[in-house]
Amino acid sequence: MSSASLEFLRYRVLGIMSRMDALSGKNLQPLAEIPLALIRKNATRLHGACRFKKGVDKWRQDLSPLHVKEVALHPESLNDEWLRYAEFLMFHEFLHALGHGGHDQIFRNLEAQWPDKDAKQMGINFTRYLRQRNAKFAWTCPKCSWKTERSIKSGGRYLCRKCKVKLVDCAISTN
Ligand SMILES: [Zn+2]
Ligand SMILES: [Zn+2]
Repeated sequence: MSSASLEFLRYRVLGIMSRMDALSGKNLQPLAEIPLALIRKNATRLHGACRFKKGVDKWRQDLSPLHVKEVALHPESLNDEWLRYAEFLMFHEFLHALGHGGHDQIFRNLEAQWPDKDAKQMGINFTRYLRQRNAKFAWTCPKCSWKTERSIKSGGRYLCRKCKVKLVDCAISTN
């Protein structure tokens, strides 16, 4: 499985952003200077982050890329199959860097201008994929063989919804 570099991704994302009408009044150049990083690989719900420098109030009026310490993405998002989502993630974090501290209406309107309309929705599957990747146990019904993959043991606390018998933990061999 091949994966793209963060710099390659930035090059593509800035290229797309520079052609977006909604951003035509913005100076995108400082985004090229922001340090890029990866978030911890066992994260499942955190996919990207715009981290501001120590002491920076992200609600300040003059928030700008100069206040950004780094933009970080989940390392798994750089794999080919998730690349469209990684582009959207970087775009999302760059919008924060451009002075939008939160997800207000202005932010959501800008975010909606991203040309790849399916990319945002890929986040749901990405979360599911990461959960499965972290799974260590398959909670299994001994009666009907229904199973669900989890990172922790069920420890006899859960019943099969259909059979009402306790689920048992089967170890998943990881490679
Ligand atoms: Zn955000
Ligand atoms: Zn069952």
